[in-house]
Amino acid sequence: MAEASQGDVSATVVSNAQHALNLLQKEVANCTSCPLGSSRTQVVFGTGNVGSPLIFIGEGPGQKEDEQGEPFVGRSGQLLNRLIYEELNVERGMVYIANIVKCRPPGNRNPTPAEIAACTPFLKRQLDQLNYKLIVALGSVAARYFIGDTCKITKEHGLVYETQFGMVIPMYHPSYLLRTGGLNVSSMRADLVGAKMYLKNIGQWPW
Ligand code: URA
Repeated sequence: MAEASQGDVSATVVSNAQHALNLLQKEVANCTSCPLGSSRTQVVFGTGNVGSPLIFIGEGPGQKEDEQGEPFVGRSGQLLNRLIYEELNVERGMVYIANIVKCRPPGNRNPTPAEIAACTPFLKRQLDQLNYKLIVALGSVAARYFIGDTCKITKEHGLVYETQFGMVIPMYHPSYLLRTGGLNVSSMRADLVGAKMYLKNIGQWPW
């Protein structure tokens, strides 16, 4: 009998990956590698389907995420969920979502280069366990981490880049969309459809 699977990925691969991620999450839970460790309420590790070909990486937790321990649960998360549902026709839980840094930068400032350097070894180990074929980098902090410091979201959103992390598509951050609305939301919708087409073209759209 065929194994139950999530997309193209077998149940065994998914359950091994989930186990490894659970261990990593426990390891990160008490991290004090950077100053954010002393101001956070809790570490926001990441959540979703470890077998998803499409993953979303934001910048860092905000206040609601810090309180609830899950990425993108505040207003920008609600917008992200809606755009994922309306343009990709999948529920949020069917993709994987995490951030560049796992603890909230106070006052929602950008994480510093030192904080990013301290936290991203965990992100790399997390990515190693995921079965993604395309990373959506939400906003300039994530886009610059994956693609390089010169990446400009306003010009480069929606383009697919080959990087050391695999294929990455930068998109506007949902909180920027909440501030600017209109045309930028339309661009984000088009970029999500582009991501879906990319995965369909490489035979990696399981839904
Ligand atoms: N903004 C982010 O970049 N990540 C979250 O989890 C929430 C808001």
